[in-house]
Formats: sequence, structure tokens, C-alpha cells
Amino acid sequence: MPELPEVETIRLGLEERLLGALIKTIDLRDQKLTRGQVDLLTIKKLVENNYLVKFGRCGKNLLLFLSNGNILFWHLGMTGSFKISENIEEIPYLRAYLETDKGYLLYSDIRRFGKLGVIKSTNELKKGIDPLGDNYLYDNFNKLLTSNKVIKSFLLDQEKISGIGNIYADEILWKAKILPNRPANSLSTEEINRLFKTIPEVLKEAIKHRGTTISDYRDINSNPGEYSERLKVYGKEGKPCNECQGIIKKIKLGGRSSCFCSDCQK
Ligand SMILES: [Zn+2]
Repeated sequence: MPELPEVETIRLGLEERLLGALIKTIDLRDQKLTRGQVDLLTIKKLVENNYLVKFGRCGKNLLLFLSNGNILFWHLGMTGSFKISENIEEIPYLRAYLETDKGYLLYSDIRRFGKLGVIKSTNELKKGIDPLGDNYLYDNFNKLLTSNKVIKSFLLDQEKISGIGNIYADEILWKAKILPNRPANSLSTEEINRLFKTIPEVLKEAIKHRGTTISDYRDINSNPGEYSERLKVYGKEGKPCNECQGIIKKIKLGGRSSCFCSDCQK
């Protein structure tokens, strides 16, 4: 699933290619994309004949700011991806497209968990603190760590911190030297500090390498992310830890697999 670094990489690509473009048409091949929130005719009225004035991101949501003040938000679900093309191409699993004066933005999604809609303000999105945003402050972060839910599940909770999925949660906890099954409220001040600093560090490093491709993630130029080569624990069970040569283990927490090093992480 595209997590914050992959969505940010896509955002940067869209900004480079489509900033200032005029949207002539929006079409949804898959009406399920709006989750029944709005019909195609209304979307067309709100979106067409507007310029793309800014590309933003909020957690895992891409935000396309339009010249009429509306925001088209787009969540890529598990397998959503974009491609920019000169023509309308019949790519596999094409679910929606924008026709602009700078080319077609084609959206494909194999598993159909993606979602889009039109909002007036980002306050309308259900979301937690974005770790690369202005609200990511130590006090705000510290206040969230009061439950006895395990720290791995806390990191995945999009209504608390938004943008982190299974890959980066494992990588962040390894780097912060905290075991994934620790209750959130059991962390020492030093550990909270370390975790608070490590989250944006890992995400920024991943953005620098244009995200992680495990299976199908590609940026808008169809390139895979290169952070996959830098992963330390995710998907590495049975392999030696980069730091201590101990063997990476895997457990299930809240239905999700978690990889960690029991020597480095406490
Ligand atoms: Zn280790």
C-alpha cells in the first residue's frame, strides 16, 4: 500500500508535470471510487474547467487544489497508481482519468480500495497528525501515547498519526529501538523522544529515495521506489540484523505482521 513517502513522491511528480494545467474532463470508469458520497455529474461540475493550482498531501491523501477553491482529494487505497500520458490509453484496471491541457492523468487500481471526492477544506478529512506537517509537535505527540494499545498499532492508527503503514512502522520502531508489542503508555520519556524524532527522519529518508516498492507501487513516471534496498527489518524475517547480526523475527500484532530485532529493540 502506498504510505506517506510513496504518496509524497507521487505528489512531487504531479507537481512537476501538471502544475497549472487546465482540467478539461474528469471521468470515472469506476463509480465506486466516490463511495456514494457524490455523483459523477456533481464531480464534473465542481472539477472541470479549473486549473490545478497546487498539489498537497495530508497523510496518505493526495490533494489537488483547484482554481475555484475546491480540493479534489484522492486516496490510493492498496494498489492505486497514476500515469501521465499524451493520449487516453487503455491501461489495465483504469478506474478514472483527468484530461488536461498537459496530458491525461490516468488512475489504475487493481484492488479498488481507492477513493476520491471533492472538499472545501482539509478539515473535512478524517485524519490524525501528519508527521511532516506543522502540527507534528512533541506535546501533541506525547498526548496521544496514553493508551495501552501496542505501539505498532498506535503508529498504524490513521486517526492519531496519519501516513504510516506496515512497512514504515516496522522500520521506525527498529530505528527507535522499541519493540512493536510494547504498550504505548509504557514508553519512557527518552523512548518517546526517540520515537518522535525517528518518525520524520525515516519518512524523509524514504522520500529522498522515492519510496518503497514491494510489489506494485510505481511513481508517476512508472519507476519503482529505491528505499526497498534500504529496509532494515520489514520483510527480512530470518535474515541477520544490519546492526547486531541477530536474526530478525516476525510476529502478528492486531492482524498485521511485524518484523523486528529482539536484540536491538527493547
Ligand atoms: Zn539488531
